[in-house]
Parts: sequence; structure tokens; C-alpha cells
Amino acid sequence: MKSNLVPNIIPFLVAPGYAHTQAWVQALQTAMPEEQLVAFGDMSDAAKAACKVAIVANPNPAELQQLPQLQWVHSVWAGVERLVADLGKTDLEIVRLVDPQLASTMAEAVLTWVLYLHREIPVYARQQVQKKWQPREYVAASQRTVSLLGLGALGEAAAQSLLQAGFTVCGWSRSPKLIAGVECFNGENELPAMLAKTDILVCLLPLTPDTRGLINARILALLPQGASLINFARGAIVNDDDLRAALESEHISHTVLDVFDIEPLPVSEWQWQHPHVSVLPHCAAPTDRKTASAIVAENIRLYRLSGELPQTVDITRGY
Ligand code: NAP
Repeated sequence: MKSNLVPNIIPFLVAPGYAHTQAWVQALQTAMPEEQLVAFGDMSDAAKAACKVAIVANPNPAELQQLPQLQWVHSVWAGVERLVADLGKTDLEIVRLVDPQLASTMAEAVLTWVLYLHREIPVYARQQVQKKWQPREYVAASQRTVSLLGLGALGEAAAQSLLQAGFTVCGWSRSPKLIAGVECFNGENELPAMLAKTDILVCLLPLTPDTRGLINARILALLPQGASLINFARGAIVNDDDLRAALESEHISHTVLDVFDIEPLPVSEWQWQHPHVSVLPHCAAPTDRKTASAIVAENIRLYRLSGELPQTVDITRGY
């Protein structure tokens, strides 16, 4: 009887010190007026005891443990590597954000920085410092092969915008894919063949036990001399020392890094100063609070109606 008196409250749990809790609670509340949204800190003990679903942004695992009935969490981030690592072995189901708006923001970022490399802006910037007037030979987009590591929600959207811009596009995934206009490769065995024809390599993989340190000296050596690398996924996928060595030897001509092992990137790190590195502050594809809240709301509505969860993260696979 008592549980009927406890309102159906959905808490929002965040990383310690996160600055936008109230803005998220408001956006989520607007998107689902039929639910009662609260920051975790505002939950009563009775509401904690009854809570079955929570919305999270890299939550503190100790706080999740205070919700004994919790069955699933909906992350407002697309990448859930930190949540998966923090939770360890768990029965809790995780739903991550899959938002077409996020995919199109990422596709825009990929196209922007691919064009930056394709039109050799780093070279012209250096020439300007030297007051050197020297046009470089034009290469058509169709003559450049851009390869995507990861053909998921973000990789596939990026592939479409690269195709539209006229690039030759390849992509690599775990399972086989068929995407019109994209030469698709899958599994470890097929990676060398893709790398051998790549001018610009773009990483959009999740960080998992299989992808941690994947972009190392061996993989970089499989790229043609002068290729470049964009990492918009997670810092730990790239072996930093190996990348630095490949840049020093000019095997890799330039790299654009949006993500790092430690963020913010400490001021002492070599990437800040390196002439062949563009450092970005993890800004390739920020989550749009409004569209993300609408998607979370729709998923929770379906769950309330049918008891079914949207597609959940495969914890053993890591994504
Ligand atoms: P997703 O839909 O889960 O797609 C992941 C892709 O990677 C899939 O194609 C998957 O292959 C492939 N993959 C995973 N492990 C692999 C392996 N061992 N070998 C080969 N391919 C593998 O993920 P998403 O939504 O596209 O997001 C990708 C990542 O982007 C996120 O995990 C996050 O780290 C990052 N991200 C960055 C930003 C930013 O602002 N920098 C913003 C959002 C997300 P299958 O298709 O065969 O499963």
C-alpha cells in the first residue's frame, strides 16, 4: 500500500561537480511532463527505495547503489565507456543516447576537419608564418580516400556527408556492413587493406577492451606516408607515444585530436605545442539538451507503456 503513495520519480545523476544538472532536469521535465524529474540530491529516501529507472550523465556509482530497485539507466551521452567501466560486472541495463541531431553534428565536424586537411590548411598556415607564397598542387576530393574507423550511428552519418562532398569513402566495423558508396571492411584481418589506401583516417570507435590502444605504431605504419589522423572518439584508443613518433618521422603529416586520455589536456602535454597537431577541447559533437531530452522521454514513454527497453549496451562487448 505504501509504495502507491510514493510518486513515480525519475532521478538525474551526474558526475561530481557537473555544472549543468538543473538545466538538464528542466529540459527533461519539459520533454516528459507526465513524469517527475529531480536531481539525485533532491530525492527522498522513499523515492530512492522505489526508483526503477534513472537518467544519468557519468553518474557516481556509489549514488546508483543507493537505488536498490533500479533496473535500467538512460545515459544522455552517446559514449558510455566510463559508465560501463565504473559499473563493472552488473545486472543493470544501460541505454545510451542515439540522437540523429548528434550524428549530424558529428558528421559536420568530420567534414569540417577533413576539409581542413584535404585543402592543406596546416601547410598554408605554416607558409604564412614564413611569408612564403607557394600554391600547392590541387587534389580533387574524389582523389582522397577518407576512412572511418567505426560505422555506427556517428560513423555512418559522417560517411554520408563525406560522400556528398565527393570524397572516396571507406569504413571499418566489427560486423560486415553494406552502405551504398562506401567500401566496407570488417574485423582485424581486413583493417590493413583499408589502411593501405587511406589518406585521412577518422576514428569514431567506442573505447572498449578491444579498441584501447588500437591506433599504435603497427597500425600507423600501415597508413601511406603522409596520411593524417582525426580522433573524435576517445583518447585512449590512440597510443600517444606511437603517434608522436609517427609525427616526428613525418610518416603522419598532421593529426586533429578532440579527445585525450586526461581531459582537460594538461598544459604540460606535448600535443599543445606540436606544429603538426590540432588540439580541440572535446567539442566535435556536443549533446543537444533539447533533442536528447525528447529522445530519452520517448524511450521512457515506450517503457511505461510496454515494459520494453530500447536497445541496451552489451556490457561484455563494451558498447
Ligand atoms: P556505435 O553506434 O556503437 O558504433 C560503434 C561502431 O564501432 C560500430 O560500427 C562498431 O561495429 C564499431 N566497432 C566497435 N568495436 C569495434 C572493433 N573492435 N572493431 C571494429 N569495429 C568496432 O557508436 P557511435 O554512436 O557511432 O559513437 C562512437 C563513439 O563516438 C562513442 O563511443 C564516443 O566515444 C564517441 N563520441 C565522441 C563525441 C565527441 O564529441 N568527440 C561525441 C559523441 C560520441 P559494429 O557496427 O559491427 O557493431
